Amino acid sequence: MTDIPSDEILVAGRWRRGAGAPFDTVDPATGRCLATVHAADTADVAEAAEAGAAAAREPAWRDLHPHQRARLLHRIADLVEEAAADLAALQTADTGKTLTETKALALSAAGTFRYTAAALETAEEAITPSRGDYVTMSVYEPIGVVGAINPWNSPVASDAQKIAPALAGGNAVLLKPAEWTPLVSLALGRLITRALAELRLPTALLSVLPGPGAVVGDALVRHPLVGRIAFTGGTTTGRAIAAVAAERIVPVSLELGGKSPTVVRADADVEQALAGVMFGVFSSSGQSCIAGSRLFVEQPLYDDFLAELTRRTAALRVGPGTDPATQVAPLVHHRHRDAVAAHVERARQEGGRIRCGGAVPEDEAHRSGAYYLPTVIDGLPPTARACQDEIFGPVLVALPFTDEDDLVRQANDTVYGLACGIWTRDHRAAWRLAHRIEAGTVWINTYKQFSASTPFGGTKDSGLGREKGRDAIRSYQRQKSLYWGTTDAPLPWAG
Ligand code: NAD
Repeated sequence: MTDIPSDEILVAGRWRRGAGAPFDTVDPATGRCLATVHAADTADVAEAAEAGAAAAREPAWRDLHPHQRARLLHRIADLVEEAAADLAALQTADTGKTLTETKALALSAAGTFRYTAAALETAEEAITPSRGDYVTMSVYEPIGVVGAINPWNSPVASDAQKIAPALAGGNAVLLKPAEWTPLVSLALGRLITRALAELRLPTALLSVLPGPGAVVGDALVRHPLVGRIAFTGGTTTGRAIAAVAAERIVPVSLELGGKSPTVVRADADVEQALAGVMFGVFSSSGQSCIAGSRLFVEQPLYDDFLAELTRRTAALRVGPGTDPATQVAPLVHHRHRDAVAAHVERARQEGGRIRCGGAVPEDEAHRSGAYYLPTVIDGLPPTARACQDEIFGPVLVALPFTDEDDLVRQANDTVYGLACGIWTRDHRAAWRLAHRIEAGTVWINTYKQFSASTPFGGTKDSGLGREKGRDAIRSYQRQKSLYWGTTDAPLPWAG
């Protein structure tokens, strides 16, 4: 992307400098400052919430029929598709991710807007079975203002997953991107503002408010006009936000952390499993909530599988996201890279065997970037910190299992329950395992595949609620029941 956007943020449809402190956002491949963003502060949040609530009540928006709101979503999808190359370049610069991935994320965001438009046009309200002289209906109404808070690992795609159903539901949205990666969310904000203006809809329906979570995010979840909170991020933050939502009695959805098991049974197609395990944990440099970061291999296959996996992992190409040959790009930030390195150091101290990686590459080409070598560790008990903590980097811990009960016990021995991968030729075993493992998503002979039409979310400490799918729109609305009397006779009680 040639021109990085200016330092303005989006407050209720207006572009201007935020009133908060300026902060730099950097390219993790080089350490170069990309832009200085003027963060929002609590007054910006209040202004955005008030103007958003007013915009959501404006007849030009409130009175639209679903198929008319769907036009907005289609127009946003068009604009995102047209800008996909620029959005990808910007996201690669701000997050370090490969261009292949960021292009796919931009197109997936467009796909989310298009899918949501289709779901909106075809959503039905129910006439529920009558149990008296009345017709009963269940209808859905906008909540008003939605607060959407996202992490840094997949902006644009995670932004779309919240903004599309929230707008479809008839709301205004306040989006809070992560401190490390505000640029692509601001660029998406420009496209959505343009679509709103073209269709003569209130531009105050969207605000994009970067800044510190403890200030901007906190103000957003506590604002009395914010009637629904959609959060993606770490479990500790999610728990704190859920406590505020409980106090305020407002609905909240939480997409949180993970430590997902990937299972390779002895009857697996080994080539397929090797490719799938590596993609599952090392793509996105492991910075993925659903990274298959705990590998369980059936005992008879364990040594051979680990040896080949280690050989192939050591051969992965580590480089900048702009190089088409790169498989493992830099991590999002030098500070995050250092945190990943500290996890591996602790695993080493816990007695883990570093089968490959376990270091920062020191050569000239990698010196200034936030790189970390893809790492395979084994020899640790399932209770070790490296087998329990979410590392959120290119680090895989491998463990053997003896039989299905042993596997299920080990795989479920985690506070998380986000995803699971199963590699096997035995479909009955896969069926049993898919039901016994505690996870929101199970991939069988594939991994890390997504569809806008398929719900996504976690169990246990991985979260609450689901994104995507037809029901996403309803989760941004209030359900209301209507009773229509069908008889001329007065109710008998007063007679
Ligand atoms: P984080 O929890 O530190 O931050 C996430 C967002 O919350 C940021 O925008 C941050 O500014 C904001 N925030 C921080 N404190 C806040 C507060 N007190 N009130 C309101 N907002 C606050 O997470 P992160 O480090 O940015 O992201 C990594 C985490 O996100 C990992 O745990 C990962 O597993 C998780 N994640 C989950 C999913 C999923 O769908 N389950 C997807 C992607 C990432």
